[in-house]
Amino acid sequence: MAFSNEMYQAFEAVVGKRNIARDLGIRETYRCAAAQSSAHYGPYNHRTPMPEAVLLPGSTEEVKNIVRLCNKYDVKFKASSTFWSAMGFITDDNGVQLDMRRMRSIEIDEKNMIAIVEPYAIGAVVQAEAMKVGLTLNVPGVGCSSSPLASTAGWVGFGPTSISMGCASENMLGAEWVLPNGEVLRTGSLGAGSGWFCGEGPGPSTRAILRGFQGSTGSLGVCTKMAIRLHPWPGPTHIPSRGVVPAYKADLPDNFKAYTLCFKTWDDYAKGLSLLHEAEILFLGHRQFNMFGRDIKTAMLKILTDPDGQLAEIPEYTADPELKKINDDMKIEIQVIIAGVTRRDTDYKEKVLDTVLEMSGGWKNQFMLEKDMMDYVLLYLIRLGHKNLNYALCGAYEGNYGLSGNMFVSAKVMEEAAALKRKWELEHTHIAAHGGDSDMGSISIIGGGGPTGWEYFTNFDAHDKASIKGTADFFNETQRWMTEKGLGVDMGHWNQDLRREDGYGFTQEQHDEMYVKLPQPLVTVYQYKVREIINPKHLCGSYYRTLTPSKYKG
Ligand SMILES: Cc1cc2nc3c(=O)[nH]c(=O)nc-3n(C[C@H](O)[C@H](O)[C@H](O)COP(=O)(O)OP(=O)(O)OC[C@H]3O[C@@H](n4cnc5c(N)ncnc54)[C@H](O)[C@@H]3O)c2cc1C
Repeated sequence: MAFSNEMYQAFEAVVGKRNIARDLGIRETYRCAAAQSSAHYGPYNHRTPMPEAVLLPGSTEEVKNIVRLCNKYDVKFKASSTFWSAMGFITDDNGVQLDMRRMRSIEIDEKNMIAIVEPYAIGAVVQAEAMKVGLTLNVPGVGCSSSPLASTAGWVGFGPTSISMGCASENMLGAEWVLPNGEVLRTGSLGAGSGWFCGEGPGPSTRAILRGFQGSTGSLGVCTKMAIRLHPWPGPTHIPSRGVVPAYKADLPDNFKAYTLCFKTWDDYAKGLSLLHEAEILFLGHRQFNMFGRDIKTAMLKILTDPDGQLAEIPEYTADPELKKINDDMKIEIQVIIAGVTRRDTDYKEKVLDTVLEMSGGWKNQFMLEKDMMDYVLLYLIRLGHKNLNYALCGAYEGNYGLSGNMFVSAKVMEEAAALKRKWELEHTHIAAHGGDSDMGSISIIGGGGPTGWEYFTNFDAHDKASIKGTADFFNETQRWMTEKGLGVDMGHWNQDLRREDGYGFTQEQHDEMYVKLPQPLVTVYQYKVREIINPKHLCGSYYRTLTPSKYKG
């Protein structure tokens, strides 16, 4: 059914004139941006779908009424909270985009150590409110300007502090969801009228159903409010800072220490990190600055910590023999932060860290111990507010390899992976050439330690068709190599299969063809069944990975 004036007026009656638009200029800005992914050819061969209208609901009641109208008129809908992800945008024609920015309340329940948040409450503000009462949250790796609710309802949601605070599935408590049929579901303790504190029972225990194996990607309705677990913050009521934009540094007390741990070999690295998983002393662990690339990371740190620093200075810094020595020292490294609760606790954590380094042949990089550098790292990683820098080299990037999971397996192939990327960087000009190894990510994607969350940053120009194509070719080459090594699905492909090359979502037949080949296809069979029960009209796009049960050959 074409999107008629009558439909528009019905939606307008729900949200009010000021909170709905269908002007071409506004709808155009709600197309999935090419810069976010090499997965499709964006503004070149095709156009990604554009919503028929954009709606800004202001309450659960309004969301419910919008969804009911979508059912009545068979209009697709997609909610997005902070739009960092490609899967927050619609994938079909005849859809409306829900932009949740009007719903942004935050309530901190200090006693139960939870934050009850609406979709547009961003990580930075939730963190600032929580710190006032000695608490904090795991800000997902996408950064503090993203919505913790969106990552928790919609995606994986791990970040640098997951080692001490867990990831989205571990932090999700009671939630309020408008299901795709317009019914409102209240989960966990909330569903039993007992408040927000518990994700499972005494009310409906639907956390696993709603999150699926990697978040519901906005495909199972709209989450309007959620309680998220908070964690102890052993620091002041805010993060004091000094310096000049953009090179701010944190002025935290000396129970906070940021170190860059270096290792001679990848095997030592894996050993050191697994000992850190066991030791349970880290507040945070993340390989961050290697995203700039093995050859230029120290140059980038010099530039970023200097308020007058310019990217044009990279050649000068990389030619500096002293800096090159530091860069070589940091070839295989990771950033960690410890945060002692008492003086004794800080001393204990320091001692354990030194013992881990002794046992794994590691060391602390001296350059990163300089006060300004340490304070820069503390602010960068605790606040997680520098995500613009992910795009600094070429304006766009996509993660590939994704040598996550068991780090003893990935450690064995790190140099081979780096060599493959380096070769591609030198022989083709479509991706940034910055040293092959640009592996980065969290020391653990679950609380306490376990599987890692790593990816190789592949920087490209999303406004150059050849660069997009070259990146896609490189990912195909990566997948060929990974298949040969038995390493599973390349992360670039995992992201690419969210959206077709023409910008539209995949059909069920295409999903079936892809997911039947997964090492564990049964997961997607379960997701199919969940989707058929909760969203039988398939009103929220096709990002949710599903496999038709009859196609499963197990
Ligand atoms: C620079 C960058 C770094 C990243 N690093 C990490 C990382 O370290 N760890 C990690 O896990 N992921 C990471 N990602 C992926 C990221 O977590 C997801 O893209 C994230 O969900 C996007 O954040 P957002 O808060 O803007 O969500 P949105 O883009 O708003 O939404 C994300 C998904 O959730 C759905 N959604 C949003 N709001 C709602 C709602 N109210 N109800 C129901 N569904 C909703 C959307 O439809 C969409 O499918 C990264 C992405 C980027 C761009």
